[in-house]
Amino acid sequence: MEIKRVGVVGAGQMGNGIAHVMSAAGYEVMFNDINQDALDKAMALIDANMERQVSKGKLDAADKAGALSRIQTTLSLPDLGACDLVIESATERETVKQAIFEDLVPHLQPHTILTSNTSSISITRLASRTDRPEKFMGFHFMNPVPIMQLVELIRGIATDQPTFEACYAVVEKLGKTAATSEDFPAFIVNRILMPMINEAVYTLYEGVGSVTSIDTSMKLGTNHPMGPLELADFIGLDTCLAIMNVLHDGLADTKYRPCPLLTKYVEAGWLGRKTGRGFYDYRGEAPVPTR
Ligand code: NAD
Repeated sequence: MEIKRVGVVGAGQMGNGIAHVMSAAGYEVMFNDINQDALDKAMALIDANMERQVSKGKLDAADKAGALSRIQTTLSLPDLGACDLVIESATERETVKQAIFEDLVPHLQPHTILTSNTSSISITRLASRTDRPEKFMGFHFMNPVPIMQLVELIRGIATDQPTFEACYAVVEKLGKTAATSEDFPAFIVNRILMPMINEAVYTLYEGVGSVTSIDTSMKLGTNHPMGPLELADFIGLDTCLAIMNVLHDGLADTKYRPCPLLTKYVEAGWLGRKTGRGFYDYRGEAPVPTR
């Protein structure tokens, strides 16, 4: 089956990047959010990010105009009915994702493949609540989407081979590299990454080091391009907490206990870069550690 039209649900940090790479690769994109402001901001960001690619010679100005013209925004999920592939990338909460799939399914064509960009939630469980578990899989991009090379592809128990192959072909058309993961909590990347970030928060919580000393240690001591707390702010602390809760609940091992300090930051609404404050305060010229 040839995929031509792609629906993207959720116009947050990830959704804007997904709409960007899909339209640049030639797909028609129907871009949905419940919030018009999120869609407007996402379109402005895609424009700016594509402009940066043009100035670096990575994208033709004419190709940029073509890509932008292939993206249509909508507040109405039924408008995604004509899509061949839907990538859900809304807030990392199972009830939110379930409600989206419930609302969407009656409008879809029988051949449409449904996917989720979830970082951690069971693909098999999300799939089982739709009318097409065999045509459902995890399509997990990395942040920032236009730059990061990897896409994790996750098959649920029921996912069939043609669905996997169709998604694999999309990853190839994007010029990205697919790695496959079995459907266990947080898959591969976040199963390894999030406990490290959570441990960095414990290190801060227990007073072993300050924000600066923890990030400096990991950048200069282990050659990580970003420190774990800076990275947590980049990902979003609500998303980090949600993933730790999925690991804790799904694997029932206390080693995945979310750090109470991470919970506290989320309770404060200090979610990282997207809200202007997290382990760093981004409201001034340069980021300032908040502890
Ligand atoms: P975000 O908070 O930046 O954006 C979420 C968007 O979803 C918001 O614009 C919100 O308005 C929208 N939304 C909420 N309910 C909706 C609904 N019912 N219908 C349509 N839109 C709705 O979150 P994000 O960082 O973009 O994460 C989105 C998904 O991508 C999550 O599943 C997350 O786990 C996953 N993910 C995130 C990262 C990361 O680094 N942030 C990386 C890979 C995958």
